[in-house]
Amino acid sequence: MDKQDAKALIDRAREELKGAKRVLIGAGAGLNYGGERFRRHMHAFIERYGMTDMYSAGFYPFADDADRWAYWAHHATVNNLGQPVLPLYEELYAWAKDRDCFVITTNADGQFLKAGFSPDRLFTPQGDYAHIQCANGYDVREIFASIKEDTGHGERTRISDPSLIPMCPTCGGPMAMHLRVDGDFVQDDDWYAAQRRYFEFAQGIADHPTVLLIIRRPGSAGPSSGWPR
Ligand SMILES: [Zn+2]
Repeated sequence: MDKQDAKALIDRAREELKGAKRVLIGAGAGLNYGGERFRRHMHAFIERYGMTDMYSAGFYPFADDADRWAYWAHHATVNNLGQPVLPLYEELYAWAKDRDCFVITTNADGQFLKAGFSPDRLFTPQGDYAHIQCANGYDVREIFASIKEDTGHGERTRISDPSLIPMCPTCGGPMAMHLRVDGDFVQDDDWYAAQRRYFEFAQGIADHPTVLLIIRRPGSAGPSSGWPR
């Protein structure tokens, strides 16, 4: 594509977005999990485990729950609970708030909620870092309501008090992050309600002109240094 064609496409997209009354936003590949941001937030874990980025670190075979929850408490802090809303999402919300809008995203960082998007207009089918679930398939809970120990600035790589390790209130078994990493991902009533709202909105495309806006990080196959910190 030459420069002129690209400009014509961008101009057309701008016009479509300006006039859009109804919009379905699909977003993937959110925060940057590697590079300087990873090294700055995760140095204690890098030193102990030799981790190379926050994505693969999520699959690290921790020796026990005290190690596992120290990592995930900090991961959740860095990538969701302690991360303020990014300008990109604020701008997106400023544009979307007066339109009939629905968001479906695989991002686990909670940025759409922080920007102001209504939870009733949001479907996160793969889970997020703000929630944990029973490893045996029962309850879904908010992470820090259960963990009760924020490892703070990531200096500690182990939960100091074993009684703070989250256990399932229903079956007494271990908990896991509420992320779709295997077949045990819990889809509770809230999950199905959000899925239903998404289907209803998507079916409305048949009767109402709808702009489909796909958001992904440039070069989203790998870390991008241009992405906000
Ligand atoms: Zn359970």
